Amino acid sequence: MSKTINAFEMAQKQFDHVAELLNLDPEVAEVLRWPAREFSFRIPVRMDDGTLRVFQGYRVQHNDARGPNKGGIRFHPSETMDTVRALGTWMTWKCAVADIPLGGGKGGIIVDPATLSTAEKERLTRGWVQNMWRNIGPRQDVPAPDVGTTPQMMGWMMDEYSKLVGQYTPSTFTGKPLGGGGSLGRTEATGFGVIYTVREAMKHLGMDPKTSTAALQGFGNVSQYAAVGFVEILGGKVECVSCWDRNDRTSYTYSHPDGCDPRFLLTIVDQYGMIDKEKAEAAGYIREDGDAWISKDVDVLIPAALEGQVNGESIQKISDRVKIIAEGANGPTTPEADEVIKAKGIFNIPDFLCNAGGVTVSYFEGVQNDMNFYWSKEEVLEKLDQKMTTAFKAVLDMAESKNVYMRDAAYMVAIGRVVKAMELRGWV
Ligand code: NAD
Repeated sequence: MSKTINAFEMAQKQFDHVAELLNLDPEVAEVLRWPAREFSFRIPVRMDDGTLRVFQGYRVQHNDARGPNKGGIRFHPSETMDTVRALGTWMTWKCAVADIPLGGGKGGIIVDPATLSTAEKERLTRGWVQNMWRNIGPRQDVPAPDVGTTPQMMGWMMDEYSKLVGQYTPSTFTGKPLGGGGSLGRTEATGFGVIYTVREAMKHLGMDPKTSTAALQGFGNVSQYAAVGFVEILGGKVECVSCWDRNDRTSYTYSHPDGCDPRFLLTIVDQYGMIDKEKAEAAGYIREDGDAWISKDVDVLIPAALEGQVNGESIQKISDRVKIIAEGANGPTTPEADEVIKAKGIFNIPDFLCNAGGVTVSYFEGVQNDMNFYWSKEEVLEKLDQKMTTAFKAVLDMAESKNVYMRDAAYMVAIGRVVKAMELRGWV
């Protein structure tokens, strides 16, 4: 049996590789290889049937040299301290590469939220805050939704925190619902951010967006707005999207002879990103196997569903026409596939650059909360475009000047900025 991949070991290996490329002082590297602070706590919750259940909660604060820690809270049955450590570490690099003044954090609870009633979920989220409130806040650590958590849960958490500190403090949590302190543009942020980086990559490669085609994996939040943006911002054609069909317990790829219409698909997709197959077929969509997206004859591949989808095996199926792989998902590409991408000369936009739009608008949400003044959607998206374009250029400059792969370049930019902040503060 193959050894289960430990996400934190992977995060440390990636860091060690770039630390070597950067010739980083081993003492400085030792600070960054581990989270600065870790919290592990038990949350007793009175269930609807009167019994008391105790849940395991976590929060990791990896590094706050550049600003308060930032990162989601996941509710997942297989959450571990190591997954939280890994994700918290990656958040430090993501915030640094996007050049937003925040550090990295992550939290979680071992639970399958689908097994809880609404009232139980509310008591559990409030319990997480009762454990952590002294160590979070706009100047310390700002959590957000992630796998298994929702804007509604952020609303409850913000309320619990505000009650405990005795002050309305919306900027302690981001990803809140609209009307409850949330920001316009958050829904589009990650997908549009992906497209802003694709646009810059096309400029760099001399491609014409209007004659370009893309195949996307997934049709959830990221993929939906990446598809909309590919058509409406770039003027290109979306060849296919895919999704998991929980009724059939398999995945499907949907394409249309005239190209996909993402706005139409948005009307026939549910909240979990599953496309209604009858309605799609009635509208002339062709349904194929879920793996078909990766072998399409397109210019751009956008994996925006799960980790590990572009791997040693699937990469063999990609068309010679593919020029860009834009990583909308977190960790979609395995190290084995990276070697093939490099050898084929395909331009890679690494995940923590490509999908940084979400955390960037989360940061804008906190800024608007602190000002108590809210921007229009246009203003949010314009500021997002500026941030993503600048981040892309910094990474491309690094890749070209050091002659390294884009993923390594993104790490080099991020680690360089965090080290600089630690030096300026006299930590190292
Ligand atoms: P989501 O849950 O909204 O959507 C996931 C989509 O993937 C759904 O359409 C689902 O049907 C599909 N899917 C699942 N298994 C599949 C399979 N085997 N084949 C094809 N499709 C499959 O999730 P999301 O928010 O869009 O996130 C997608 C990825 O992007 C994740 O890796 C997430 O960590 C990352 N990400 C999301 C954000 C954000 O703001 N939402 C920000 C940064 C990174």
